[in-house]
Amino acid sequence: MQASKQQTPARQFTTFAGPCSAESLSQLKAVARFIKKWNEEHNLQIQALRAGVWKPRTHPGEFDGYGTQALEWLQQIKTESGLAVATEVATAHHVECCLKAGIDILWVGARTTSNPFLMQEIASALQGCSLPVWIKNPISPDLGLWRGAVERVAATSKGFIGAIHRGFGLYNSAPYRNAPLWEIAVEMKRSCPHIPLLCDPSHIGGKRDLVAEIAQTGVDLEMDGLMIEVHPEPEKALSDARQQLDLKAFEQLLSGLRFRDTQSSTARMTQIRCILDEIDDELVQLIARRMRLVEEIGKLKKASNLSVLQMDRWNTVVERALDQARTQGLDENFVRSLFNCIHSEALRLQQDSKKEEN
Ligand code: PEP
Ligand code: MN
Repeated sequence: MQASKQQTPARQFTTFAGPCSAESLSQLKAVARFIKKWNEEHNLQIQALRAGVWKPRTHPGEFDGYGTQALEWLQQIKTESGLAVATEVATAHHVECCLKAGIDILWVGARTTSNPFLMQEIASALQGCSLPVWIKNPISPDLGLWRGAVERVAATSKGFIGAIHRGFGLYNSAPYRNAPLWEIAVEMKRSCPHIPLLCDPSHIGGKRDLVAEIAQTGVDLEMDGLMIEVHPEPEKALSDARQQLDLKAFEQLLSGLRFRDTQSSTARMTQIRCILDEIDDELVQLIARRMRLVEEIGKLKKASNLSVLQMDRWNTVVERALDQARTQGLDENFVRSLFNCIHSEALRLQQDSKKEEN
């Protein structure tokens, strides 16, 4: 391992690393040795060793963790290495076992965040506890559900609460295992500035080759740290074998991270931002003007007993916009989704005016 003092994020940065599942004491010891050595030689610190002991698996019969036996391994790692250890809880019983075993940090997985009954059960088990809890986003792209899970834990626990962005399960999220939908993570950060947000590039990517690049995107978007799956022999892993990094690849990822200055700006940037603000004002005014005309047409449609949606007209609008997009060198998918958004608001306005007049 090459000593480097270059990784010095200006902000507080938290990293958790370790295997998807705790599979043996020797596996955990190998990761713990790596973390200790890395921490001795670098400014960028890894704060805890992560390992799942109860694994939520998609199909019955798949390896679902070594449970309390694995908790004992984590206890031993903590005692021998002095590292903090973190694991996932999905029920009140898991929380109780972790409290007894002296686990330092808990996280709640995506499948659990999705279920308010389980979240409430976990929150009640954490009543008065000071253990840090990190809450992953729910499987579905639902910011409310994510924030609701945070609120439930905040209402009972006395400990620190953080959030983890691990991507969202969509029918088609290629090339990712879970679509990043960065805008939801950014909105989580914007709306809950007091909750630190880690990026989990392993579960977003689902493939080793994607992990480093996603981690860098997380850093560039001012995430407060990373949770990364690391395994001494990833190809033999009992869960998530395709996405875990070996120790060498993990070392390369950490060494390659670039922390850029996200706060300051140059005079030219300030000048451009003033122009952008003006353009944004004009955009909103133009959209408002378009929507007023849309409402007027809505009334005419109603008076002439015409349906709200007229597909031929809508196709023409989209085709014209896409022609313009090509001429202006804009991305067609972007323009298509922008117009879909405008159109759904136009339909809503026309339907609402129809309801009012009925
Ligand atoms: C995990 O971190 O191993 C895990 C199961 O994560 P997620 O809940 O994001 O699927
Ligand atoms: Mn995993």
